Formats: sequence, C-alpha cells, structure tokens
Amino acid sequence: MIIDGKKIAETLRQKLKKEIIEIKSSFKSVPGLTVILIGEDAASKIYVKNKEKFSKEIGINSEVIKYPENIEEKEVLTKIIELNKNKKVSGILVQLPLPKHINKQKVIETILPEKDVDGFHPINVGNLSSGYDSKIPCTPLGCFILLKEIEKNLSGKHAVVIGRSNLNGKPMAQLLLKENCTVTITHSKTKDLKSQCNKADIIIAAVGKPKLVKGDWVKKNAIVIDVGINKTSDGIVGDVDFNEVSKVARAITPVPGGVGPMTIACLLRNTVECFKRANS
Ligand code: NAP
Repeated sequence: MIIDGKKIAETLRQKLKKEIIEIKSSFKSVPGLTVILIGEDAASKIYVKNKEKFSKEIGINSEVIKYPENIEEKEVLTKIIELNKNKKVSGILVQLPLPKHINKQKVIETILPEKDVDGFHPINVGNLSSGYDSKIPCTPLGCFILLKEIEKNLSGKHAVVIGRSNLNGKPMAQLLLKENCTVTITHSKTKDLKSQCNKADIIIAAVGKPKLVKGDWVKKNAIVIDVGINKTSDGIVGDVDFNEVSKVARAITPVPGGVGPMTIACLLRNTVECFKRANS
C-alpha cells in the first residue's frame, strides 16, 4: 500500500479550515502565523512561499518578514520579542538554515514556547521527551499522523528510526516511545544498519542519503516512512529504495507526495493549536 501523504494532508487542511471558520465566529479573530525569512536560500524561499499559500488558503492570517543575508542578529531578536508580545500572532517560525553570523539556538530560545510552531524551543523539546503535552516538530508529527492512518495501535511494535537530528530523528523517537513502541535510534556510527532494520515493524528513514534503505533491509509487512528529500540526476528521491521496498513493505510513503505535504499541514495545525491555547 502506498501512503498518500498529499491526500491525508489535504484532509487535515480541510478540517483546519472548518475549525478556523468556527474560531472566527466565536473569537472574532483568526490564528496568525509569522514567518521570518533571512537571505536568499532558494529552497527556503520555496518552503516559505508554500507555507504562506496554504496558510491563506485555510484562513490563517499569514505574514512573511524578509531580511537580507547581512541582517544583524540583534535586529532579528528584537523583532521576535515584538512578535512575542503581539496578540494577533499565534505562531512564529524562523526559516532555517540561518546565515552563519546568526546564532540559531539564540533565535530559537527567543521565541516564546507558546508560539513556537516548529517545536524547537528547549522547553517544548523537554516537554516532549518527558511525555508531557508539547509543541511537536512538524515533520515528525506528519510522519506520526501517516503512521496512525495505517496502524491505530502502535503499542509493542519495534520501530527503527534512522537519523538522530533534532529536527526529525529525535522527536520522532519520542513520539513512538510515547505510543509504547520499542524504539531503536540509529545514526552514522551505527554498525550493521541493515540488521537493525531487519528487526523493525516500523522504519522511519530521516537520513539524507538517496535510496539507502534496500528491499532486503525490510521485514515483510513492515511500515516504512521515508522522510528523505534528495536531489539526484533521476530527480527527487527519498532515503528508501522505493521500487525494492514497496515489494516487501505493508505500507510505504512515496517521495515526493508522502511526508513532504504533511509537514506544512502540521505547521498549520500547530498554528491553530497555539491560537486555541492562547484563547482557552
Ligand atoms: P541531518 O540533520 O543531516 O541528520 C541526518 C541524520 O542521519 C544524522 O543523525 C546522521 O547521523 C544520520 N546518518 C547519516 N548517514 C547515515 C548512514 N549512512 N546511516 C545511518 N544514519 C546516517 O538531516 P535531517 O535534517 O534530519 O534531514 C534528513 C532528511 O530528511 C534529508 O533528506 C532532508 O532533506 C529531509 N527532510 C525532509 C522533510 C520533509 O518535510 N519531508 C523535512 C525535513 C528534512 P549522525 O548524527 O551520526 O551524523
């Protein structure tokens, strides 16, 4: 089975759109998302454009603040502090990567945890790893929603997460642990990754290596979620060899059209959640 991330993301957006209509009639205001974009990174510009487009489509009040590459860190931090105080702004996102002279951690920590739609603030990271309610990073949240579409009860399943980034691997592992999975986190120093994957009921690949996961790495009927987005001469491919793995897996996400569309849908979901929290 091929997991249709596009369709599931569309369903989530439609649900949020309805919710925002209700919010508007009850609160006479709508959730607001402010994205800060620094510099000219081509991929970042596309991501931000899509975030703006989908926000507007479902009724979120979307604003993009653009700064040149050489903007001073202090000016960015001052703007975030101003946005923190602005009641019309439910969520703040600073598009990564940042220019080298800007301290990423400082930027992340300046965003109020309550408005941290990316779930990167240490308070949100801590809450997630403590099993408390928290903002959840958009891509792992998207993977989690896709997984739950296929398997409602994840308890006792063995999940192997490939990659341990703060963005993907680590929060993904925490989400799976919260669902009572047995979780193995693997990374570039893991020995014999194939044999780790062979034990998995669920594989989440968030590596950045084209077609790393092969057909004979995957147990029959495993569920495989491919986070990877890799530009190759064959076009965009994931971290999983789709042709091989789709023959053995019970369900698999394609690239593109799997996890990617879920990331933005989950950003919209997080923005609506921030609004609801602030107004409850
Ligand atoms: P990252 O920060 O570069 O982390 C990659 C992780 O993979 C690291 O933990 C690294 O291990 C591990 N790794 C590297 N080579 C490995 C190998 N041969 N075997 C096992 N593990 C290995 O990347 P990321 O930000 O998590 O992104 C991962 C992929 O997801 C990229 O392709 C990215 O473009 C994509 N992505 C997609 C979305 C989406 O919306 N679909 C969103 C974000 C990212 P070490 O820690 O030991 O270095």
